[in-house]
Amino acid sequence: MSVSMLLRLAWRQSLIRLLLFYAFALGIGLALGEPWWALGLATAVLAARAYWRLYRVLRFLDWRKQLRTVDGQGLWAALETLIHRRQTENRNRSRRLVRLLRAYRQAATAMPDGALVIQRRDGRLVWFNKTARRLLGLHYPQSLDTPLLDCFPEQPRVREWLAAGQTDEPLLDLASPADPMVRISLRLIPYSATQWMVVVRDVTKLMRLEQVRRDFVANVSHELRTPLTVVHGYLDMIEPEEHPELAVMVEEMRRQSQRMTQLVEDLLTLSRLEAQEHLPEEPLAMAPMLVTLRREAEALSQGRHRIVVEDAAGCDLVGSVKELHSAFSNLVSNAVRYTPTDGRIVIRFERTADRGARLAVQDSGQGIPAQHLPRITERFYRVSTSRSRESGGTGLGLSIVKHVLSLHQAWLEIDSEVGRGSTFACVFGPARVRPREATGEA
Ligand code: ADP
Repeated sequence: MSVSMLLRLAWRQSLIRLLLFYAFALGIGLALGEPWWALGLATAVLAARAYWRLYRVLRFLDWRKQLRTVDGQGLWAALETLIHRRQTENRNRSRRLVRLLRAYRQAATAMPDGALVIQRRDGRLVWFNKTARRLLGLHYPQSLDTPLLDCFPEQPRVREWLAAGQTDEPLLDLASPADPMVRISLRLIPYSATQWMVVVRDVTKLMRLEQVRRDFVANVSHELRTPLTVVHGYLDMIEPEEHPELAVMVEEMRRQSQRMTQLVEDLLTLSRLEAQEHLPEEPLAMAPMLVTLRREAEALSQGRHRIVVEDAAGCDLVGSVKELHSAFSNLVSNAVRYTPTDGRIVIRFERTADRGARLAVQDSGQGIPAQHLPRITERFYRVSTSRSRESGGTGLGLSIVKHVLSLHQAWLEIDSEVGRGSTFACVFGPARVRPREATGEA
């Protein structure tokens, strides 16, 4: 029965019963000659009954108890019926919620990946599943409320990663605290305003395959080096003047063997960079570096471009001099190679708003269509293969730049517009910046 119908019926029944009760009391009162006493007594009886029902309802409204039976009809019975209905609805809703929660927990527990919930504030563990227990060597319930960082006492990378709240980049290739042979990755997922979820994955197989791939490329490149040197050496011994009929062929063979040597060298550089976790922390004086870059640009350009160097930062950098030089040179060489004659190339060293520094190489060249930009730093990715080859490119330059920068916690910013030119900028954080030593130069 709907609530409004139930209430209408209850009101009607209660009023009729009230009238009948008073009529009955009045009848008896009149018969006994004391109608006022009889009416008073009837009112007292009604009040006592109302208090009794109120007491009963209040007692059952205690949250642990549920109204089981509903007595009689009328307004009190309607009130009890409504309370009974609400209680039943609430009870069913919480049962459903508990079932749902249990199902979620079972799903989370059965997940092949480890899952943990931690407090954002202090990284303390709130919950973890079975796989997380196995991968991180946690114990239930002793590990609850202990900081996640306690699992990684010798891996400062985890502390930095957690402090930075890096949700877009997983932390790859960590040794599992439970077994150093197992490699794990951690991913941070915003879970609620006060908590993170951490997903732990066993990436041992993936890392092994990656290692096999790296070793393979490094070994092949290394093995190719010696035969190439031999071929190169013999080609150098052939004098084109002595064999004019072979001159064109020898020239082409020399060019191709040089290209192969460059490819092998670039592949070896990439392998070396991939195998390294840290590079030397040397002071890098930027004023002489900019002079060198200008000289290299001019040598490559052979007077075909206008080359401008702007040194606006007034600071130096810290990092591997050799690798950073190779990264900057790559950008300068690209700018020259992909800018037509009479173009302008600006090499600018400047500060960033967050007190870091940025070396930008800007050209007025052909530019890169936007759809190529996300993939431009992949190995062998070229916008135009023929143009890259013609200009002596290996397709590995920007990959090397990206690797070198990432080893310096720096990154590459690319801004390009077809027909107007491109800007490739190496952006360094404040930690990589040092005040420039006075050199005494004017
Ligand atoms: P490559 O040896 O082919 O130059 P890179 O990795 O250095 O290889 O560059 C990848 C591709 O990016 C190039 O093939 C070229 O298409 C494009 N590119 C790089 N720098 C520039 C630039 N300054 N202007 C236009 N295109 C560029």
